Amino acid sequence: MVWEEPNQRSFMSDFTRRTFVGAVAGVAGLSMAKGMAEDTAAKAREIGSQPDVVPINKELEAQNLDSKLPPESDAGAVETFKYPFGLAHKRLHEGGWSREVTVRELPIAKDLAGVNMHLTPGGVRELHWHKAAEWAIMLHGKARITAIDYEGKAFVSDVSQGDLWFFPEGIPHSIQGLGPDGAEFLLVFDDGTFSEFGTVPLTGWMAHTPRDIVAKNFGVPAEALAKLPPKELFIFQTAVPGSLEEDRRKAAGSLGLSPVAFDFHPMQGPATKSTAGGEVRVVDSRTFKASTTVATAIVTLRPGGLRELHWHPNADEWMFFLEGKGRMTVFASGGRARTMDFQAEDVGYVQKTLPHYIENTGDTDLKFLEMFKSSYFQDLSLNEWLSHVPPELVTAHLNLAPATLEALPKQNNAILPVKK
Ligand code: MN
Ligand code: MN
Repeated sequence: MVWEEPNQRSFMSDFTRRTFVGAVAGVAGLSMAKGMAEDTAAKAREIGSQPDVVPINKELEAQNLDSKLPPESDAGAVETFKYPFGLAHKRLHEGGWSREVTVRELPIAKDLAGVNMHLTPGGVRELHWHKAAEWAIMLHGKARITAIDYEGKAFVSDVSQGDLWFFPEGIPHSIQGLGPDGAEFLLVFDDGTFSEFGTVPLTGWMAHTPRDIVAKNFGVPAEALAKLPPKELFIFQTAVPGSLEEDRRKAAGSLGLSPVAFDFHPMQGPATKSTAGGEVRVVDSRTFKASTTVATAIVTLRPGGLRELHWHPNADEWMFFLEGKGRMTVFASGGRARTMDFQAEDVGYVQKTLPHYIENTGDTDLKFLEMFKSSYFQDLSLNEWLSHVPPELVTAHLNLAPATLEALPKQNNAILPVKK
């Protein structure tokens, strides 16, 4: 078997180009053509890396160095897979604000959409429901959430930073900011076309039902309904609610509280996988029973850490970057690949089965969410794959020394390096 180490191979081509080009043209014709192509590529990169002479957006360029000068492995046209929440339209209300990234903002994101919302202390995202299921994570502060289950039984809970909730399709719910800071959270819907403009709000529903029908439905005189809001409130300001126990007791009524836990506390248990490079917490319907159509992996990468080369056989991946800096290359098949840079509040997207990695390129932890429209999390890793096919087959593909293949991690570690 003939093989050479990659660094040896690049040294040889370099050597051939610089020393022998022209001298042994007959034999080295192929090498000469390759050398000229390399010279052309190097010249192109040199031009691409020079500062622009026209006015540029320096902040944007500094955040997107892999767009300023793509790695040499990037090729072809790949659909954009990044959209920053900072570009999304913000809906302003007394009581809070919201903004969304849907398939309208990020056309490849067909499976999932996201809403980033802020509520003041007492601010209410009004009672409503929608066609899509709602998965959520609290980013900052505290909120009281309410719902009823499919039997009409009450659910009332308080959630704080790192906590999750899940409301299935058609389940009515509300969110209210608590003291002292109110609440900021991310909602993820299992439909890329979902928009927060397309919900069933209590106030909008009442405003668009004949008043005499509402009166008949409630069994009260129409005059008693004179102050119903004339249109949807969406988000509004009211007083901070009282104790959780008291709200639960009042909401339970004669039916009792729901046995369904619509909330989940992922930081209370151990990490699913933990290495020197970081940790990953998988939360899906196996642990968070209510979350039947959305699965997640909550990932922390230490500086230099790598979410290893992998793919997801079962679903598209919608990503949200919580903090830190990173980059991701998506190999989009057909010889196409693109690398993009990410930071806090960016949304990323990788279509089902396409290989990718995420590297922490900053000097602080990189935290992000991997979201899937599925009842379960699933990934396959390159290292695991290559460790579980006949070794001669692998070395023949990649021109690896047997010792190099032997050194590869033998399992799916999710995050590398495994050890310091
Ligand atoms: Mn909702
Ligand atoms: Mn992934």
